[in-house]
Amino acid sequence: MYREQIARLFERSPFYRRKLAAAGFDSPAAVGGLERLDSLPFTEKDELRASQAESPPLGGHAAVDIAEVARIYSTSGTSGTPLYIPLTRNDVEDWRAIGRDTYSKNGLKAGDSVVTTFGAGPFVAGASLAAFEAIGCTHIPIGVGNTEKLLAALRHLKPKCLGATPSYALHVAERLGGMKSSLERVIVGGEPGGGEDGFRKKLQDALGVRVYEIMGIGDVAASLWGECPEQAGMHFSGGGSIHVELVDPDSGKPVELKDGAKGELVYTHLRREAAPVLRFRSRDHVEAWTSKCGCGRTSLRVRCIGRTDDMLIVRGVNVFPSAIREIVGKFQPRVTGVVLVKPRRRGVRQDPPLPVVVEGEVADRELAGEIREQIRNTLLVTTDVRLVPPRSLPRSEYKSKLIDYSEAEGG
Ligand SMILES: [Zn+2]
Repeated sequence: MYREQIARLFERSPFYRRKLAAAGFDSPAAVGGLERLDSLPFTEKDELRASQAESPPLGGHAAVDIAEVARIYSTSGTSGTPLYIPLTRNDVEDWRAIGRDTYSKNGLKAGDSVVTTFGAGPFVAGASLAAFEAIGCTHIPIGVGNTEKLLAALRHLKPKCLGATPSYALHVAERLGGMKSSLERVIVGGEPGGGEDGFRKKLQDALGVRVYEIMGIGDVAASLWGECPEQAGMHFSGGGSIHVELVDPDSGKPVELKDGAKGELVYTHLRREAAPVLRFRSRDHVEAWTSKCGCGRTSLRVRCIGRTDDMLIVRGVNVFPSAIREIVGKFQPRVTGVVLVKPRRRGVRQDPPLPVVVEGEVADRELAGEIREQIRNTLLVTTDVRLVPPRSLPRSEYKSKLIDYSEAEGG
């Protein structure tokens, strides 16, 4: 399948034909099989943007004519023009199958009712919604930012499952304020953090539910990873259509997939027709497990540690803001679990102490020091922890920010 895909890229993707030739591969035969994948160059998101800008509307990587495209999503990109993500009918089918697999791992089955608050607009999260029907669930799509409608649906339709971002799920729990609902499980995705122990415990206790995490990536597939009831990392659902590698984010060297391995996920489509990617750098930094899960599945499992893009280097030590949030989360209920890292200057490299704002009991004289100590012991980084009252940091209904550069110097 991989060799056919490579042949397709040479035939139909000017972007990959040129990129591979520049790296010394002038034919599918020169590229060889999957075992030689790690000799090929990576694809970066910025290259896809440049490719689209150079040959609009879909870019030289698209490998299809726009008339062959069944659906076009776009990313929530930060830099002006959206990056378009075209899918053919076969691609849409693949995504639906992957989503069905992921949500089935979360424990959903025919007859279950699910209320979702994922955006069904241009964003790829909407693509996975068809997966609920494929399973046989009763799906109640509410969309983003409609808390009153969501609370009404909980009252009237009594769904057993909620799908939401971790920060929005927490917002819903705060709105319910301990009131019992029909919910038995919450599926969280769209931003990292759903697998962090402190967050999970807080949400599970507040709503009386079990929390399962999912993760997708727009340029590759929506709902690509999903946790099973063991809550032991998210299982890979792309087997057969997507190849996954782990690499060291700094050197780009492959990292062997084994229990406890850490690195950045890199994806290769094995049969995607529109906008296929080869060795795509996801910027998702994960811990991986390959041993058999308690549920009996043997598929690769991961837990997202953070975005490589968010990574800071404080006096030579790699620090993910999400790792700081996880440590702070263990101090609940003395803290709410919401944190914001506020670097003193722009860019990746920072001098200690790293400023961290934490929502918690401001009157607790020991708390800031204990948190600082715990972060130093675990992450080997010195921080300046400042406590602010609960609910004073901004909440978002989609992706909540963990870093705020608004008070940083330099550019
Ligand atoms: Zn499992």
